[in-house]
Amino acid sequence: MEISTPTLLRIKPNAIHKIGKYLRKEGFTRVALFYGEGLKELFSEHITISLDSSEITVIQEEIVVSNDIDNIFRQTMSIPGSVQAIVAIGGGKVIDFSKYAAFILQLPIISVPTSISNDGFASPGASLVVNGRRKSMKANIPYGVIVDTEIIKNSPERYTYSGIGDLISNYTAIYDWKLSYDATREYVNDFAVLISTNAVENMVNYKNKNIADLEFLRLICGCLVMSGVAMEVSRSSRPASGSEHLISHAYDHVAARPSLHGLQVGVATFAISWLQGNKEHATIKEVLEITGFIDYVTKHPLDKEDFIKAIRYAPNIKENYYTILSAKGKLEKLIDFVKTDGYFNHLVK
Ligand SMILES: [Zn+2]
Repeated sequence: MEISTPTLLRIKPNAIHKIGKYLRKEGFTRVALFYGEGLKELFSEHITISLDSSEITVIQEEIVVSNDIDNIFRQTMSIPGSVQAIVAIGGGKVIDFSKYAAFILQLPIISVPTSISNDGFASPGASLVVNGRRKSMKANIPYGVIVDTEIIKNSPERYTYSGIGDLISNYTAIYDWKLSYDATREYVNDFAVLISTNAVENMVNYKNKNIADLEFLRLICGCLVMSGVAMEVSRSSRPASGSEHLISHAYDHVAARPSLHGLQVGVATFAISWLQGNKEHATIKEVLEITGFIDYVTKHPLDKEDFIKAIRYAPNIKENYYTILSAKGKLEKLIDFVKTDGYFNHLVK
């Protein structure tokens, strides 16, 4: 079995100014650039200067407004054969779009996230819209990840909180994976467990958990990359996705106004870690508090009724995906917690 990992990896301040140099070093001289909506205006000047000075030709440039699979097929077919790599600049939508386009064309993709709201910028899957519904599709793990931590620092704080929520969920995801082994004998890849656990512990053990701190942001980016690698190693989303993710996906379905993926996941992780009796429950609470995640969500809470609906719907999200919610009586126990726990009721209203 062949496992790929990102080969080009640069996470540092002002990395975007050196994008041309990085691509040239990998031997890419003809690329397609995909920008998320509204981002070309912000970043194309720096990127163009950098590419020009390294004599890299932009064969095609597109703004991605939708990650509907039909769009991807249509836009992908117009990419000339001379393109050697696809460069995706922006948030989840353009990166998912580009990962899938690159997968279809079997080209390397370089992801250049301008916010870190989830682990998608370095994961092998792509979340797309298929027949009007969100669906996780197989794709390749990015060949390159370039993160300019200055840009992340200046991105709206909700995105970074969302990334923290997505990362902290590794604790509950791993617990569910092991639970599934006990209940169904589902294969657990120990190395993927190690990577995923180390990723979240790196963040947890970092002293200055300030989202305006460039070092902390660099660390979180690296941890999210490791989550992506854990998924690649196990060929499964299990290392970074358990029942807390099922609840978040279900919330996307049932809620009138869904929030960001990682914010929903972080809130669900808090509740699920309680339900699991997870030994990291107190740590999860502490990290979410110290980073400012709890404060942020308290000011922008999820809808309580929709969250309860999401818990009921969650086991239907993925077939044959055993989690704590599959065990007898756990669904009702969690709903009771959501209805009555004083602390949790700051996060859902
Ligand atoms: Zn996630």
